[in-house]
Amino acid sequence: MDFTLNEEQKAIRETCRDFAEQEIKPIAEALDATGQFPYELIRKMGELGLLGLPFPEEYGGAGADFLAYCIAIEEISRGDVAVGITMEAHTSLGATPFNLFGSEEQKRRYLEPLARGEQLWAFGLTEPEAGSDSGGTQTHATLQDGYWHIDGTKSFITNSATEMTGGVTITAVTGKRADGRKEITNIIVPKGTPGYGIGTAYKKMAWKASDTRPLSFEDCVVPVGNILGQRGDGFKQFMQILDAGRVAIAALSVGLAQACLDEALKYAKERYQFGQPISQFQAVQFKLADMDTEIELARLMYYKAAWLHMQGKPYTREASMAKLFASETAKRAADQAVQIHGGYGFMDEFPVSRYWRSVKINEIGEGTSEVQRMVIAKLLGC
Ligand SMILES: Cc1cc2nc3c(=O)[nH]c(=O)nc-3n(C[C@H](O)[C@H](O)[C@H](O)COP(=O)(O)OP(=O)(O)OC[C@H]3O[C@@H](n4cnc5c(N)ncnc54)[C@H](O)[C@@H]3O)c2cc1C
Repeated sequence: MDFTLNEEQKAIRETCRDFAEQEIKPIAEALDATGQFPYELIRKMGELGLLGLPFPEEYGGAGADFLAYCIAIEEISRGDVAVGITMEAHTSLGATPFNLFGSEEQKRRYLEPLARGEQLWAFGLTEPEAGSDSGGTQTHATLQDGYWHIDGTKSFITNSATEMTGGVTITAVTGKRADGRKEITNIIVPKGTPGYGIGTAYKKMAWKASDTRPLSFEDCVVPVGNILGQRGDGFKQFMQILDAGRVAIAALSVGLAQACLDEALKYAKERYQFGQPISQFQAVQFKLADMDTEIELARLMYYKAAWLHMQGKPYTREASMAKLFASETAKRAADQAVQIHGGYGFMDEFPVSRYWRSVKINEIGEGTSEVQRMVIAKLLGC
């Protein structure tokens, strides 16, 4: 097995690491305090090609491979997870469906500005009554005279209302299958379409600078051609989107876990108690060693899942395992990072207190830890 990154993957990692260190980390605390969406930063990331990494160059993307994209998410999230999730939701949830399932015309019209970083896009799956049970979609669309009439509500939709947002792709029930189950179709709804209502931004525990809102659709009308791929393929499509998204969320968790270790190690070397740096105490060393070990393992898990995806092999199991383990690793890392900081870890001027608040959502978004365990158990044959 060869775990060596190729030149392009290394170059993308270095670019993102430098960008996170120089441009993101210095403003991360302010972003958390104000909750302002970081337009300047996101636009710069677009100019650097970071918002279109895994898409073909002919559609405005950087033509990088999926692992390189995940490594980029890790490094950006090491700087700040609110920025990391903005990039991840835009790329994995917003733009990837166009790349995978869009017609040539849709790729030109929607994917190109997204890949060039001129626009952001959202994906609306979750509803007030359909979270983990994502097939429980109640939003429905009926076809009348060549137009889809959409009615329903979506919850917690990332990137859905920034100034840069071009629109949202939503899941909607478009009929009934022969077996009686719901026919779900993905429908493209550009921002500004009459009847597409954008709710007030949620007040969140963390990821405060990312844009998360409820959306409503009241007789929202889009042309018949605004469906993605084939009518009725919505469920199949979002399962595919979520598999890849989970690998990227694993990378985001590894980035946050690494940030926890970075801060804990720095602090442990600087903080003196009993006449020596606390890093000299074996109890503290063991915490740092455990963090480093688990982070490396979580990183290898998302590398493997990404590699399987790139080989065109099945990777649902590995994607769920990587997401599950990396998010729980990040939680333990954040906890130990605060512990190593003692009372100062409880204070907002130290980043670890923000990391501790930020880490919880990784076990919830793009499928909870329970859902990941359900996926893994099902593949075990349970
Ligand atoms: C900040 C943020 C951003 C988000 N961004 C997006 C987005 O861009 N697009 C989008 O579509 N969604 C988004 N989501 C939604 C997210 O994917 C859901 O919150 C998540 O899937 C869980 O759904 P739920 O919140 O309805 O929880 P529920 O499904 O109600 O789950 C509640 C609890 O019950 C457990 N549970 C549920 N079913 C089972 C079961 N069968 N067995 C065992 N336990 C179970 C869950 O694991 C959880 O612990 C976002 C959420 C947040 C908080």
